[in-house]
Amino acid sequence: MNLPAKKPKRLVVFLDRDGTLNVERGYIHELENLNLIDGAADAIKTLNKNGIAAVLVTNQTGAARDFYKEDHILALNKRLCDLLADEGAHLDAVYYCPHLSEEEGGKVEPYVLACKCRKPETGLVEQAYKEHEDLEPALSYVVGDKSTDVELALNCGAKGVLVKTGYGEKVLSGEYQWKVTPNHLADSITEAVEWILKDLALQTR
Ligand SMILES: [Mg+2]
Ligand SMILES: [Zn+2]
Repeated sequence: MNLPAKKPKRLVVFLDRDGTLNVERGYIHELENLNLIDGAADAIKTLNKNGIAAVLVTNQTGAARDFYKEDHILALNKRLCDLLADEGAHLDAVYYCPHLSEEEGGKVEPYVLACKCRKPETGLVEQAYKEHEDLEPALSYVVGDKSTDVELALNCGAKGVLVKTGYGEKVLSGEYQWKVTPNHLADSITEAVEWILKDLALQTR
């Protein structure tokens, strides 16, 4: 009797949005103000070419803070995907947390919530694993510019890469959030992906 062939799992990199893939500009009200960081599309394309899933996980509190509606968050995410597509790159999935607790400044229902998906909580990553059963949780990565991204990696058993773009430099100097020890510190998304490929080669040889 032949056992059913086990499908090979896909490696996955969870990617932050602002300050990691697109230039950090605070809360972006105009879509055209969302622009890619140099090299971001090529870095994603490298993941695509290597069969590694690129999954966006982003905290987006603009609607909870009453800066704009949730459909604007969707439009910003679409703008990012469109800019990547223009350069032949694609994200395999996009997840965002629109929530913010009242203590942190959330004021618009239904987003006022101390949820389980706001990074560094792991809800978005868990949702990705649930909806994409081919993803391999045992050897995964998180890339982002904040302490919360590095802490997400710790919380979900991934390796964390802190990029110096966005808030990265301020995290390093202690001016923003808190000190963290990432598995790797990268100048940008470009170098982050280069390091991940090297690290994977070491793990899987
Ligand atoms: Mg960020
Ligand atoms: Zn949430």
